[in-house]
Amino acid sequence: MKNKNGALAPTGSACLEKVLGRLDKVKQTAADKWKACCPAHDDKDPSLSVRELPDGRVLIHCWAGCSTQDVMAAIGLEMRDLFPGDKKPRQGPSRAAILHEQFIYRIGLDTLRRGEKLNETDRQRFELARERLGVRHG
Ligand SMILES: [Zn+2]
Repeated sequence: MKNKNGALAPTGSACLEKVLGRLDKVKQTAADKWKACCPAHDDKDPSLSVRELPDGRVLIHCWAGCSTQDVMAAIGLEMRDLFPGDKKPRQGPSRAAILHEQFIYRIGLDTLRRGEKLNETDRQRFELARERLGVRHG
């Protein structure tokens, strides 16, 4: 049976091209791995490993001990050049969503503190806001 995913991983993301394009003696060693001369030290034998992750991030590692920052600085790039742009939604709720929940929660709390009752819809929304904010009962 043939594996449809057996083909080589698609490479050539913007991050990867940017990095590889600035390195010397780049040699592909696997579908998602490259070796190159480290630009941050006097490297005669390629000792820099470059790897592309499935999500487009690029990992670089100098076996001689240079930090990733040093390597990136040596080729005129920044750490953020190793990460693809913000294409994916961020983890967790946005700041605006949290403020909105806090607003609902406060209104509900104020109402209850005044000794007034929330109607069923408001109470459910209040409970939901409390849950989302992680406020404990009691
Ligand atoms: Zn190095």
